[in-house]
Amino acid sequence: MLLPPFMTFDSLGLDSRILAALKNQGYTQPTPIQAQSIPILLEGYDLLGTAQTGTGKTAAFTIPIIEHLLQEKTFKTRKIKALVVTPTRELALQVGENAKRYSHGTGLRTAVIFGGVGQNPQVDQLKKGVDYLVATPGRLLDLHQQGFIDLRFLTHFVLDEADQMLDMGFIHDVRKLLKIIPQKRQSLFFSATMPKDIISLSEQILKPNYKQVRIAVAKPTAERVSQEVFYVSKKEKPALLVEMLKSFDGETLVFGRTKHGCDKVVRILSKKGIKAAAIHGNKSQNARQKALKDFKEGHLQVLVATDIAARGIDISGLEYVVNYELPNIPETYVHRIGRTGRADASGSSVSFCSADEREYLKDIEKLIKIDISLVEDHPFAAGAAEEWADPENRKPKKPGQRGPRPGRGGKPKSDRPNGPRGAGGGKRKPRRRF
Ligand code: AMP
Repeated sequence: MLLPPFMTFDSLGLDSRILAALKNQGYTQPTPIQAQSIPILLEGYDLLGTAQTGTGKTAAFTIPIIEHLLQEKTFKTRKIKALVVTPTRELALQVGENAKRYSHGTGLRTAVIFGGVGQNPQVDQLKKGVDYLVATPGRLLDLHQQGFIDLRFLTHFVLDEADQMLDMGFIHDVRKLLKIIPQKRQSLFFSATMPKDIISLSEQILKPNYKQVRIAVAKPTAERVSQEVFYVSKKEKPALLVEMLKSFDGETLVFGRTKHGCDKVVRILSKKGIKAAAIHGNKSQNARQKALKDFKEGHLQVLVATDIAARGIDISGLEYVVNYELPNIPETYVHRIGRTGRADASGSSVSFCSADEREYLKDIEKLIKIDISLVEDHPFAAGAAEEWADPENRKPKKPGQRGPRPGRGGKPKSDRPNGPRGAGGGKRKPRRRF
């Protein structure tokens, strides 16, 4: 369904309080996903959305839900009528914050619940009564089992970033949840990708006459974000990072694969006087929130994160993403670089690739259908070549992790020799750095 590009929020027939709240946010025009989804949702259809964070998806589902809730006579009863389930705590907080902003002045009560923190403040909030609840699956089921959450009055159910839930092993929780929410409801299901498991799950959630909306960001992330890769030995990654940060004039999000690795990077940077903090699953929720807040407010130059902790977070204006370690799942790379270049802004991503990660790089390039620009001329190139020279170094560290991925078939390819992109064989002009 194509809608005129001049569409405004006013033309959607929304409650004047919502329109005022949106004006307050400085939103003048719906984004494409909003323009397509809001009319469908206002009519009461279920929706299957293929969209990533950064497209304006949160408002796309939140606005029509608020509109419906305001129209209901039961509005003042303070029973949970809308439930949004997200895979991560950070995303839950972000979605909850948005719901609060878009419902400002309506009297709607929102709450966010997630694990990793004491449950009492959340229970207190629930006891006072909540209309719009945002939750991560584990804590939601836990509090439901303890009798603090009543979902019998639910009319709207949103499953956000469903493919991430699948990756993070939440799918059983979601199935449990589906058994305890009312059958009669409007359901909204969002996922950035639609693998087979996700389609089968969506069929269990949505009514047969559901509508589908598919939003690609105006240009795919991989095209909006400038991408470079450095071959660098494992042991020289810290030195390369420190060197690189000197040439960056903005905040930088650095991705590591492990919690321990992220902490190590923070220690190295701190020793060099670079303000950095880490967010990952071993940090308390308060520490994670503080680090994210400090980073967003510009008090930290570097935030070092694992993929799970950074999933879905919206850091407006983020210029640089560094893949300190390449992910072994290529889709993760796209999620990572999507943290920059949001809302069609430009951004830069730099990847550090040690000898044992070149297979990961190949998988990534195959997925994004782009050869990432290789920076060959840099002070650590010799170290990289030396590391590469020993075949032992080329083996992925945990070979078991890289089995063929469902639906993609095939076994891992053989090692790529230094070419075609190594010395002398590059398709593009060699680039110089530092
Ligand atoms: P989301 O995809 O929901 O994470 O949203 C991405 C960003 O776009 C957030 O920072 C929103 O505040 C912003 N946003 C959402 N809708 C609009 C709109 N209609 N106009 C301008 N910005 C928006």
